Amino acid sequence: MKPEYFVVHYAEVAIKGKNRPLFERILIENISKSIKGLKANGVKRKYGRIIVNLKEDSKIEEIKEKLSKVPGISSYSPALKSTHETKDMAEKALALLNKPKSLYIKVKRSFKQHPLKSLEIAKEVGTIVSLEKNIPVDFVEPETVITIEVIESGAYIYTEKNAGIGGLPVSVSGKVMVLLSGGIDSPVASFLTLKRGCRNIYVHFHSEPYTKESSRKKVEKLANIIAEYQGQTRVYMVPLINIQKEIMLKTDKKYRIILYRRFMFRLAEALAWKNKAKALVTGENLGQVASQTIENIHSIHTIVNLPVIQPLITYDKQEIINLAEKIGTFETSIEPHDDCCSLFLPKHPATKSDLKTVEQEESKLDVESLIKEALKNTEKVTINQDL
Ligand code: ATP
Ligand code: MG
Repeated sequence: MKPEYFVVHYAEVAIKGKNRPLFERILIENISKSIKGLKANGVKRKYGRIIVNLKEDSKIEEIKEKLSKVPGISSYSPALKSTHETKDMAEKALALLNKPKSLYIKVKRSFKQHPLKSLEIAKEVGTIVSLEKNIPVDFVEPETVITIEVIESGAYIYTEKNAGIGGLPVSVSGKVMVLLSGGIDSPVASFLTLKRGCRNIYVHFHSEPYTKESSRKKVEKLANIIAEYQGQTRVYMVPLINIQKEIMLKTDKKYRIILYRRFMFRLAEALAWKNKAKALVTGENLGQVASQTIENIHSIHTIVNLPVIQPLITYDKQEIINLAEKIGTFETSIEPHDDCCSLFLPKHPATKSDLKTVEQEESKLDVESLIKEALKNTEKVTINQDL
């Protein structure tokens, strides 16, 4: 039988108190946007859960796929609705069942005025269903769990419980500016801040014409994949090449990578202010490459005033790859591309820079006008996804 609803749960424990109404309102908004066009019949809050109403022609499979990508959802279940009568509950449960080897009935009674207690409901429904289909009840390892959620207007019944990605709804934690390269790490870092409720916007630095246009397209493709978890967003494409040339001409080659990155951070911060984003996010990971030592991170991050969030800083590479595969960015990330950071790099970059020397080298450059020029030539790309 075709489900008439999706019962959506979110992690309640974390959001008790004042933040809860806001959390619920934003989650409902995000769900509504994500399933727009799939012929659902409205999304509503009901006693600590969210109900997606379906119609005859709702696109169930597509809706499921969308719900699997909305941060803040802990589970979602296609369901039927019954009255308060246990006979009716059992009928709906039977309509959902295949023929499992064993079953268990779990009752959640949000509507405390129901004349029967949870256990009594479970017993009555269990008796009808197991007799009708000749399926034993198993309290320890049931093949199928029938969940009955009793609310004021009736009960939702379901047997399928799909895990959502959890976390918090996008937007409850504010806006951040993600430095998005074409690599494996920054898309994963992006996903992790989205999952903690941030609204991400993105900045990418290219060195065209030394880096190819295909590299920029790859970054757009990655932004599109990540945007499936957040909806519409934007990527700022910033040309770094003139800055890199100046660095190459005027400063000690040992510090090139650190100076490139200090400019990237300055530019990212300028764009963050412009967009009211209150933090920068990177895919940095301790010890992975020469620029990612504590000393170099210090020399780079101190140039900005905004906090820099590095969700992957302590991850192992394999953990990052596993996540990249799970969120769907890995295959695109490993496509070949030119990395602006590897342009004009010496064989032996400084791995333990000290801030004073870096600042001395940098003082040979006209930082302000270089930043101004790069910002002037920045392009904005809008990424459209339905969420
Ligand atoms: P990734 O896999 O994300 O490319 P990485 O392991 O290659 O990271 P680095 O190249 O040192 O490490 O980059 C560290 C972080 O700096 C990236 O995760 C990203 O946040 C940012 N970054 C690097 N290059 C760029 C770029 N061209 N545009 C935007 N951000 C960048
Ligand atoms: Mg990289």
